[in-house]
Amino acid sequence: MTNFTWLLDQYRHLLNLPAHTARVTLHEGHTPLIPAPSLAGALGGGFQLWIKYEGLNPTGSFKDRGMTAAISEALGRGAKSVICASTGNTAASAAAYAARAGMQAVVLIPQGKVAAGKLAGAVAYGAQVVQVDGSFDQALAMVVALTEKHPLALVNSINPYRIEGQKTAAFEICDALGTAPDWLCLPVGNAGNITAYWAGFKGYHAVQATGLPQVLGVQAQGSAPLVLGHPVDHPETVATAIRIGKPARGEEALLAAEESGGRIIAVSDDDILAMQKLLASSEGIWVEPASAAGLAGLAQEIAGGRFDPHGQRIVAVCTGHGLKDPGIITQGGIQLESIPPELGALEAVIRS
Ligand SMILES: *Cc1c(COP(=O)(O)O)cnc(C)c1O
Repeated sequence: MTNFTWLLDQYRHLLNLPAHTARVTLHEGHTPLIPAPSLAGALGGGFQLWIKYEGLNPTGSFKDRGMTAAISEALGRGAKSVICASTGNTAASAAAYAARAGMQAVVLIPQGKVAAGKLAGAVAYGAQVVQVDGSFDQALAMVVALTEKHPLALVNSINPYRIEGQKTAAFEICDALGTAPDWLCLPVGNAGNITAYWAGFKGYHAVQATGLPQVLGVQAQGSAPLVLGHPVDHPETVATAIRIGKPARGEEALLAAEESGGRIIAVSDDDILAMQKLLASSEGIWVEPASAAGLAGLAQEIAGGRFDPHGQRIVAVCTGHGLKDPGIITQGGIQLESIPPELGALEAVIRS
């Protein structure tokens, strides 16, 4: 036997999971909180910055924390199949955990808008992948309607056990730092994660007096319903994981921002991609575009003078791994230096 504690057992006293919950795990969670001093310096310095690197979960995104809970609950009550709508990461995660549980998974994805690494995962794990010629929001509405008529378990983040599982990231951050950070920055798409973090920090504070962070939620400008105050019919952004025009937990996200004394803002695609590169080249942490949005928002607030980071302890949640979406880096071609196999040619091109 190896020494392993399931995430949901470790924090069971803080989670609302029914007694029938089974145990389907890929050893998710327990992700590192990595100091990012070089990036903090590049943003002006004078504060402490950590990356909660959720790309190191089993299928490469934080979705696994919620999926271990949702699939375990579904299996425990005898469900045979699960279904979700997904911009990609939920699909890969649902497919993996369903495979682990011996269940069938059906995933609905918006046509042509899912990054290669996510689609490949869903297929590899054996899910039935259905493309919808429409948006994520339309696909989610179809999944909700279908599960009202048929006995498939819905595992999108409107499933309450997804939120329970995802709270564990907030607990881990408090455990690593000893208290909650001053600020938490994270991308916001369907708004399940910001909801889970805020509930998690509040739940931990209630029993351990760990304090509460202010929350900076960040959307992409082309998909910013919570900033605009109305749904977006045709959301657009390179950050496909947050390409969502009608967040299922939008009200809760706005409440989390308000209660915490934080806010929800939008950043441009250019700023997201620039931050993705800065994080990778300054800290060696390569994340998918959506995962750089929280940091891009932080940078924008600091540069605009709307946020004084001095002396603050800031955690940025980086939600998914860069390998999920290699196309965003290689599109437009990579200019490689090409040389003959001769030492002199190598000496002539080397720059350092
Ligand atoms: C799902 C996802 C998000 C958005 O999370 P929500 O809970 O939908 O707000 C952000 N980044 C990545 C990588 C994701 O997979």
